[in-house]
Amino acid sequence: MTERIIFIAVTIIAFGILTWSFSRIFRIINLLKKPYSIKNVRERLKITLKVVLGQTKIMRFPIIGFMHALVLWGFILILFGSAEMMFDGFLGTPFDHNPLNDRAFSILGIIYDIIIAAGDIFAWIILILIIAFLIRRNFLKIKRFQGKEMRHKDHKDASFALFLILLLMITLIGMNAAYVVAAKQVVHGVFPISSILSAFIPIESAHTIEIFMWWAHISLIFFFANYLPYSKHFHVFMSAPNVYFSRTEPYTKMTNMESVTNEVKLMLDPNAEVPPIDDTSDPERFGMKDVEDGTWKNYIDSLACTQCGRCTSVCPANLTGKSLSPRKIVLDYRRRMEEKMNGLLKEGKSYTDGKSLYPDYTSFEELWACTTCNACTQECPINIDQPSMILEMRRYIFLEESAAPSLINSMSTNIENNGAPWKYSAADRFNWADNLKISINNEETEIKVPLMSEKVAEGKSPEYLFWVGSAGSYDEGGIEISRNFVKILNHAGVDYACLGTEETDSGDNAKRAGNEFLFQMQAMMNIEVLNTYKIKKIVTCDPHDYNTLKNEYPDLGGNYKLIHHTQLIESLIKEGRINMNTELLKNKTITFHDPCYLGRGNGEYNAPRFVLNQIGKISETENNKSRSLCCGAGGTQMFKEAEKGDKEVYELRTEELLKTACNIIATACPMCMTMMKDGIKMADREKDANVMDIAEIVVKSLGI
Ligand code: SF4
Ligand code: SF4
Repeated sequence: MTERIIFIAVTIIAFGILTWSFSRIFRIINLLKKPYSIKNVRERLKITLKVVLGQTKIMRFPIIGFMHALVLWGFILILFGSAEMMFDGFLGTPFDHNPLNDRAFSILGIIYDIIIAAGDIFAWIILILIIAFLIRRNFLKIKRFQGKEMRHKDHKDASFALFLILLLMITLIGMNAAYVVAAKQVVHGVFPISSILSAFIPIESAHTIEIFMWWAHISLIFFFANYLPYSKHFHVFMSAPNVYFSRTEPYTKMTNMESVTNEVKLMLDPNAEVPPIDDTSDPERFGMKDVEDGTWKNYIDSLACTQCGRCTSVCPANLTGKSLSPRKIVLDYRRRMEEKMNGLLKEGKSYTDGKSLYPDYTSFEELWACTTCNACTQECPINIDQPSMILEMRRYIFLEESAAPSLINSMSTNIENNGAPWKYSAADRFNWADNLKISINNEETEIKVPLMSEKVAEGKSPEYLFWVGSAGSYDEGGIEISRNFVKILNHAGVDYACLGTEETDSGDNAKRAGNEFLFQMQAMMNIEVLNTYKIKKIVTCDPHDYNTLKNEYPDLGGNYKLIHHTQLIESLIKEGRINMNTELLKNKTITFHDPCYLGRGNGEYNAPRFVLNQIGKISETENNKSRSLCCGAGGTQMFKEAEKGDKEVYELRTEELLKTACNIIATACPMCMTMMKDGIKMADREKDANVMDIAEIVVKSLGI
């Protein structure tokens, strides 16, 4: 009876403290903004099962991933045994191990035996793995565990949590082994490994050891559960909810700022019908300056972070010695929230202590080094969305402080004035199509690129709109891609047209700079033109515009089927509408650089490879497909000076690509092409390899 009373008292205290910890977290969650609408329960459950239970993302590093997966699966099995212990504790019948013992040969009895046996085996596996993790963390200098954001106390916390798990396993195994001896002939459950250990336990002290281990184990469970909310190991609780609530949209889709939409609508049309503005409440701050400006998903991201450093280990900015570390972005949020939490809980969002997340924790330099490549999100084992925090802080800098880097301000002014990020006239937007010739039977024929306005005036509605984009219209390399692609379209007899000077910048770069007003203005202007022409299918050579039009325009009323030029070329080949000379580049080795916004962002890895495989031999670089390293141009980097580091991102990527001993670096993005060309020049390897867009390679092999 005494044991039972003590157990109930300890349980009430443990759960009381845990409830208090969680209630504080829930009160903060309540205070923060909603991130996005949480629909698609079925899809979310599927993702959660895959990522959490299946450990699919952690297995991207197969050996250490599998080791971690074993620990998780083992924990889940052992939880059944822990539940039984709680049950026994409440009933005052510890060590009976008996809820099903009268049914030893029933189905339930067999299931019980299997679970207990598996738990016993996994306790040993976890014990061995935790020892390996402790050695790895404390004695092997693993680079990913280091970094300026990793304080001494973080390392101590990580080791302490591992040590607690080690003690949990030791007490569990000790309890099982002593139980086997103490229970003599009537052992309930199967303990395949611990029963071997029981040979070392004297029969006269077996019961005492069993009782001691039982109490030690249950006390450790209570202590561990209460320690977790204050430890990096909080991911034990938070990973599953964090994955469940993670974004189900493409990584590269950046959220729409609804607060801006109505204002932009009124700016473009003072008579626009918009819901009345509520001027009784305090105006909301644009972007994120401090933790209370974030969403509750930002907060649970920060609580769930395991500090594993996988994100930082693939970040191109970090790899080239810049101060940005995506893990730090997440940890800064958590640490700042810890600092401000009591004040926020007492006084609400109006509480201030004179400090803020930006710039006291996260610096200007860190924020502007991001290329928005999303390698961090892709690699994070629990779907943390680091770039969204970076973008929110950029939004604050741009919209509230007007303090973006000066070249970004110039880029924005150019977009506002000329509809392009460069200082070119909007009237010249269609000049790329001048004097365009195609070779038919060795005779050069001039191509007139059709305009949508002319086609519609003739009562026609072309199947595709060719969205040229700012790079495709004004950038030297981009123009070449546009011209080559048009040659392919004409050669294959594709029914298409362009907008010409009716097209304006998509707003992609403005959005990534945090200038949501300008993005939405550009988007709404384009959508109006596209919708007037009732455009359904859009083909483009620019993965950034592909992403923006496909994923970000729908929130503003633009819904189109987007096709990347490599996807259209793939279909044309499959339909037999283009036949390439497969001999021409047969002896050349081609390596393909996956553009982040096409591959990681929108999942297209195969179309470019399908096309290239028709022509030459592909030699893959080490970091390919979803692991591809950014070229360094995205996230507005193309328009500003790079932050201080050891080298430029494009240099690192070109070095990687050249390691394949390729003759051709194939790209499928105008920005990637510019960066790779600069990289080759920098490496003084222009004689060894050419940088070519897939459209150019196809045109060459078609001989047109
Ligand atoms: S998006 Fe890319 S550059 Fe930005 S933090 Fe993540 S990995 Fe680094
Ligand atoms: S954000 Fe994700 S990948 Fe980065 S340290 Fe945290 S858990 Fe690991």
